Amino acid sequence: MRANEYYRASSLEDAYSKLQEDPKNVLLAGGLWIKKMGQSYNALIDLSTLGLNKISETKEEVIVGSMVTERDFENSPLIKSLYGDAISFATREVMGVNFRNLATIGGSIMGRYPFSDVITGLLPYDVTLHFYPEQEMKLEEFLLFRGKINAILVDIRIKKHVGKGFFKKVKTTALDFPIVNIAVSEVNDKYTIVVGARPMVAAIAHKASDYINSISSPSRDDFVKAAEIATEELQFLDNKDASKEYRIDLARVYIRRGLEEVSK
Ligand SMILES: Cc1cc2nc3c(=O)[nH]c(=O)nc-3n(C[C@H](O)[C@H](O)[C@H](O)COP(=O)(O)OP(=O)(O)OC[C@H]3O[C@@H](n4cnc5c(N)ncnc54)[C@H](O)[C@@H]3O)c2cc1C
Repeated sequence: MRANEYYRASSLEDAYSKLQEDPKNVLLAGGLWIKKMGQSYNALIDLSTLGLNKISETKEEVIVGSMVTERDFENSPLIKSLYGDAISFATREVMGVNFRNLATIGGSIMGRYPFSDVITGLLPYDVTLHFYPEQEMKLEEFLLFRGKINAILVDIRIKKHVGKGFFKKVKTTALDFPIVNIAVSEVNDKYTIVVGARPMVAAIAHKASDYINSISSPSRDDFVKAAEIATEELQFLDNKDASKEYRIDLARVYIRRGLEEVSK
């Protein structure tokens, strides 16, 4: 990775105006992915002094600043209190502790990585992204949006509903990228099924979720059927880590187990 300039932003307005100056200027969070990509930039715009590293709450939401590290996120009592610890659990699956002390929630979401544990773990819940200049988007809307978002993620807001969650990352070794990621939630008596790392960015299996939500007391067979529908409606691909067929087999097992778990 090469850069002509390191620029410490003094405010969101300052960071945004610097970002607009040159298409080769880039926002810098933990810098881990930027470094790994090894590209050349004009200016790296450091967001670390803007006070975006706090987690707070209102009556309805938990608000997570974009510069909160994955480690602070997973250890936060507010995050742990949500959905039976499922969101925090998903973040604990990323690399090692030293790594998570640097990687940020903002960098994890804005990258829209196809392998993201963090995104898969958040997607079943009601999560809104807040940007500068003023703009907000639901997480799913952001993931489906095809263009480039030339704005700064300020924070994410997670609704505090009562519910349960399940997360499973299937990986070959402890520090690996996932072969497939599954998240399932049961919130306000509604199930949501999410599959990530197919290897494509996480997506909600809407047909499968609707199917299981249409049944008043679903049985194991209904969970098996929902898992089948999910793997039919979402696209799965081969890559060097696993075949499409293997991913589908794994997804079917863990979706069924996730549904069983959150239905207890
Ligand atoms: C070797 C390696 C292995 C990894 N393994 C996993 C894994 O197994 N599972 C997993 O889920 N993740 C994994 N990740 C991703 C990691 O968890 C982080 O998501 C990633 O490093 C980005 O976070 P960062 O803070 O380093 O962001 P950066 O590298 O600083 O930034 C990433 C991108 O986000 C943009 N950005 C950052 N902050 C903002 C903001 N506030 N507003 C707008 N844009 C912003 C940057 O401009 C850049 O384009 C891995 C990353 C690496 C390098």
